Formats: sequence, C-alpha cells, structure tokens
Amino acid sequence: MKKIAIAIDGPAGAGKSTIARMVAEKLNIHYLDTGAMYRAVALKVLNEGLDPSNHEQVVSILPSTHIGVTYQYGIQSVYLDGEDVTHLLRQPEVGKAASAVAVIPEVRMKLVELQRNIAQNYSVVVDGRDIGTFVLPNADRKFYLTATLEERVRRRWLEMREKGYNQSMEDVKKELEARDRNDMERAFAPLRKAEDAILIDTTGKSIEQVVSEVCRYLPDLSAYGR
Ligand code: C5P
Repeated sequence: MKKIAIAIDGPAGAGKSTIARMVAEKLNIHYLDTGAMYRAVALKVLNEGLDPSNHEQVVSILPSTHIGVTYQYGIQSVYLDGEDVTHLLRQPEVGKAASAVAVIPEVRMKLVELQRNIAQNYSVVVDGRDIGTFVLPNADRKFYLTATLEERVRRRWLEMREKGYNQSMEDVKKELEARDRNDMERAFAPLRKAEDAILIDTTGKSIEQVVSEVCRYLPDLSAYGR
C-alpha cells in the first residue's frame, strides 16, 4: 500500500518537532526528526575536535560516518557509528554545530538519501527545513510552521531550561537569529516555504490548537499503509 508523507518545515522554535511528534502519534505512524541527523553529524565533528564550519574537515569524515535511525513504539533513536547518541543531541553546542554543518551540500546529500529511504519504507511525519522543497517534493501534505522571533526565543529558552541548560534569553535570541540566517541564506536547499505548503503561524496558539489545525488538512488515512 502507498505510504503517506507529511512534511513539516519552518524555522527553529516554530513548534515543528512537538507538532510533528503529536500528529505522528495520532496517526500511529513514524515521526522522522531530520534535525537530529544533522545534530549527529555535528556531534561527530565536535568529538573529532574538528571545526563544524570548515567544509574540508567536515567532508573528510563523512565516508567513515554512519548515521542510523531506529524506531521503538514510535520513538526515534539516532545512532552514530553504531552508538545510540539520541540523549546527546539537544545540547546547545551541538545545535550550533548542526546549523554550521547543514550548510555543506555533501552533508545534506548523505542525510537526504537516508531520509528519502525511510519515507519510502514507512508512512511518516517529517520535520525539517527542506522537506517540502527538496527531500520529498511529492509529499502528500506540506506544512510551513512559523512564529514571531520573540515567541520562538521564549519557547527555545524554556525548552533549554527544562533540559537543565542555563542560557540567557539574549544568547538564545542571538543563536536563533544566526540559525535563521544559516538556514535561509545557504545556497543548497535553503529553508523556504514550498509553494504548495500550508502556512500556519503558531504564535499565541496552544499545541492542541496547532495539531488540530494540521489534522484538518490531512487526507483520508485509510488509503495508505503504515
Ligand atoms: O531542528 P533542529 O534544531 O534539531 O535542527 C538542527 C539544525 O539542523 C538546524 O538549525 C538546521 O540548520 C539543520 N537542519 C537542516 N535541514 C533539516 C533539518 C535540520 O538544515 N531538514
């Protein structure tokens, strides 16, 4: 049976991961967090003591870098060279390095291949930056989530605090602005709304509100396999 692919793109802090996870749970299909893959490459670069913005250095380790994704009860685990690194990926320095390595086309092509493979084998909700425009241009539904910079900063700051990382609001804001710049201005597969994506501004909306808004646009799931 045909698999369904739902693409959710947008800038950092727009609520993509929370919404994508909940929609996937509701539909009982996989949630593919593509940011985690970029974070895993970034972790390797940092572990090797390399500079994430040095193209040559990053590209040199790609052939020996193995990224894998597994699912258990719908939860994604990311493996780096055979080791489960999921719990290490949300560290602020890894996020920053992910934004830098994500500019490099060779990194993107390696991960995009993996993402397309997963979407071919499973029904998925995929969260990222270039899913609707580049990874899965034929996705069954595309969403572009946004929110004001202030709201995104507040959410990211809260998320970091809950995870035990003490960053100031000002630092979070600077980091988000830098990430927006990196994502939107890179030459290869930049962040932008696909023409056929449904735009949802999540500013001031609850998670439940956004989830039900997304669900309103979904096709009849009975035509698809898991
Ligand atoms: O979504 P998350 O914050 O985990 O992503 C980490 C970084 O990976 C982002 O800042 C972005 O630069 C990059 N990324 C990307 N394309 C994707 C997913 C993430 O460039 N599909």
